[in-house]
Amino acid sequence: MATNPAYPQRILVTTPIYYVNDRPHLGHAYTTVAADFMTRAHRLLGHEVFFLTGTDEHGEKVAETARAKGKSPIEHCDEVVTGFKDAWKALHIDYDRFIRTTEEAHICGVTHLLKRLRQATGPDGQPVIYEGEYRGLYCTGCEKFLSGRDMEDGRCPVHPTRDPQEITERNYFFRLSAFLDQLQAKIERDEIHIRPKIRKREVLGLFAQGLDDFSLSREKVEWGIPLPFDPSQTAYVWVDALSNYITGVGFGTNGDSYNKWWNNSSVLHLMAKDILKFHTIFWPAMLLAAGEKTPEAMFIHGYLTLVDQKMSKSLGNVIKPDAWVADFGIDGARYLLTTIFRFGQDGEIREDTLREKYNADLANDFGNLVSRAAKMVLGHFDGYIPNPDFNRPEVQDLRSVMINEELNFIDAVDEVDPNMAVASAMSIVRAANRYFDHMQPWNLAKQGRLGDLAVVLGDTMEAIFYASKYLSPVLPTKIPEVLRTLGYTDAEIDARLRKGQTIAAPAGRQITKAAPFFPRVDKLGGKVEPEKKEEPKMDGVITIDEFFAAKLKTAEVIAAEKVEKADKLLKLQIRLGEEIRQIVAGIAEFYQPADLVGRTIIVVTNLQPAKIRGIESNGMLLAARHGNTLRLLTTDGEIPSGAEIG
Ligand SMILES: [Zn+2]
Repeated sequence: MATNPAYPQRILVTTPIYYVNDRPHLGHAYTTVAADFMTRAHRLLGHEVFFLTGTDEHGEKVAETARAKGKSPIEHCDEVVTGFKDAWKALHIDYDRFIRTTEEAHICGVTHLLKRLRQATGPDGQPVIYEGEYRGLYCTGCEKFLSGRDMEDGRCPVHPTRDPQEITERNYFFRLSAFLDQLQAKIERDEIHIRPKIRKREVLGLFAQGLDDFSLSREKVEWGIPLPFDPSQTAYVWVDALSNYITGVGFGTNGDSYNKWWNNSSVLHLMAKDILKFHTIFWPAMLLAAGEKTPEAMFIHGYLTLVDQKMSKSLGNVIKPDAWVADFGIDGARYLLTTIFRFGQDGEIREDTLREKYNADLANDFGNLVSRAAKMVLGHFDGYIPNPDFNRPEVQDLRSVMINEELNFIDAVDEVDPNMAVASAMSIVRAANRYFDHMQPWNLAKQGRLGDLAVVLGDTMEAIFYASKYLSPVLPTKIPEVLRTLGYTDAEIDARLRKGQTIAAPAGRQITKAAPFFPRVDKLGGKVEPEKKEEPKMDGVITIDEFFAAKLKTAEVIAAEKVEKADKLLKLQIRLGEEIRQIVAGIAEFYQPADLVGRTIIVVTNLQPAKIRGIESNGMLLAARHGNTLRLLTTDGEIPSGAEIG
């Protein structure tokens, strides 16, 4: 990425502010998850980041929609904004500021900018703003003036079902023509670095075609920011919206913040290709005219498409991000959004490939590796992670992958390539799987070669730790869980992932459990869970939902026997209503098999099946323990087996 040479390690990351005509869809989520990825990745590398997103709330169409709903524009905006904020919360988006263009600070900043432009003259010595008449077509869908070049068959290509509006009005114009040479040179020299290259060529192509001055204001649009020098006009909604990138960090209201996050940082704008012209041409030209710094980098991504059309409500094919979260979890949805296409290219969504990718990458490659290795550390080393030894010849492949992919990750972040960054982390995961399978630690265990087993598990755990770091920007809820499992404290996890500080390798830490992190997804339901309100939680207190996550039932013991060569274990056959199951329980020191048959016990029925000493155990019985005494939990009086508890 082109960075501000004076401040390469301080980044302002932005998404476009989303227009409040619609509920958030997957297209919005795609940009926002990418911006969140970039934010987290830079923080992981120790950089300072400010992540700005928000909503664009002015304009004719917003007022129209509000009217149709019988609401005031601001009531309508308040409602839609909640939808966006909830969507970002559901995807674990960690923005620093959510700006709304109806906010006082923004209006103040835009007013300041307009006054500045009104007084400014261009390189040609002429005033930047002049009055004129606009006569032509306008798409209210895009809030865009349409020139012949913008249209297909006389219509807006994004809104083919709408008739463009014919308008004639007195406007204030921005003298874009005066800044074109300067702007073109900046883009050619990558001072405004436009990625991918194909988009840079497209922008330079626009210069070659010729660019007209643009209207800075609208005459008959009331829902907007009045021009300070002519309150009968409001700022054109794009001028209003683009300004959020500077007002959001304090332009016109907080000089210190503005100086830090705009002037003394590297600015990265992310967006979809439909708004390229506004961002790469109008916006930097406005900044040049106002005497402000231009953004260092812009990354333009493609469309996610479904039946060949851009995802937008106007075309009636909205995919909601919460359906993905319901199917794949927060991290699964983020992973798929980030990796399903090269960021920058267009891609078509096919749901079966999503499930395959999730299962292959997260359930199998990563999730399984972590639980297999963790289980062996628990089973053979009391949970203590053994020391690695990266000097042995058999581990050299894994070691070099770890070193190289770390560098590749840094390059990918620099290139604004979330896809490649995740691929680097996944290469470490795959190399660790190859190593694990090649070394066959289960055979080492069988042969009693505990020293060799320790080294293999130590190496694998260290590789998991490496991969986890670089997966954390895309898996922000699961990776902390994995690291907690490896014995890291929340403070250490925060220091590593959010502040880029070094923390010690996992060897010597104690693993306490090996729960599966990414359960397989076998069918897609699109089941959307009801929204949960988050309430402040006390330490050690669980919610009723968390309690009922464990399904407890009564069971009748129908057979019991000792397990050979395991003094503490009994193998029980139990009846749960219609169902017969086998469980293995560590109660042989306290109960004789014969005493148990016919007893009613309490069983957790929805535990992941496990093998204990090679014997399948499908559930867990409950017992109370005090010192050397253990007593089974049972019911007060008779009740059939399979009765639910709770
Ligand atoms: Zn349009």
